[in-house]
Amino acid sequence: MELKQDFIPQSNSNRPQTALRPTHITVHETANTSNGANAEMHARYVKGADAQARQVSWHVTVDDTQAIQHLPFNEVGWHAGANGNRQSIGIEICVNRDGNFPQARANAISLVRRLMNELSIGINSVVTHQHWTGKNCPANLLPSWNEFITDVREGTSPEPAPPMEGRLLRVIVDSLWVYNRPDWNARYTTVSRNEVFTIAEQLTVNGSRMYRLKSGLYITANPSYVQLI
Ligand SMILES: [Zn+2]
Repeated sequence: MELKQDFIPQSNSNRPQTALRPTHITVHETANTSNGANAEMHARYVKGADAQARQVSWHVTVDDTQAIQHLPFNEVGWHAGANGNRQSIGIEICVNRDGNFPQARANAISLVRRLMNELSIGINSVVTHQHWTGKNCPANLLPSWNEFITDVREGTSPEPAPPMEGRLLRVIVDSLWVYNRPDWNARYTTVSRNEVFTIAEQLTVNGSRMYRLKSGLYITANPSYVQLI
């Protein structure tokens, strides 16, 4: 993933140009779920009047497609309280509802790994905003923060599942059970070859994949029985 540079102008008050020797990386989420609140939008925001009035700035925003750097890594930003600011690089992960958060998380992991490598920062110094100030940030990642750290350490991130909602499937056997609960014992009725259904989501039930359909019923996701169209 590319790291674009779009720096806050030196004349802006939220770019104090205070020297930074970063020993930590602080992970945040933007907490802005609005449509379009992606890295591009935050790059505009952090250069604008509101960010100066609120005295906020940070180093990189990452979304599901790119990362944009707003400050050089040897300058302090204002994102994590006095202690956090003078020791750390601040990364904001986008949570816009029209974005793919698992992909933004995966991009954040590769960004953190790259910065650790370039700036010689160890895994124990990758911390949350909460670590510095107690704020509930990054809100989505905090409940499974250890998993995030493990994924950073191992350089692996589970491949985000492709979005299934709205995809169509066709039955490719003569007769197939559908279920009225996400339970392989909850047989409800049968459907026939060439019937087409709209998928609402994919689930795993007792280790086997199942689709919940828009109709509210459930069907196997096994490609021997159904085909995505
Ligand atoms: Zn934060």
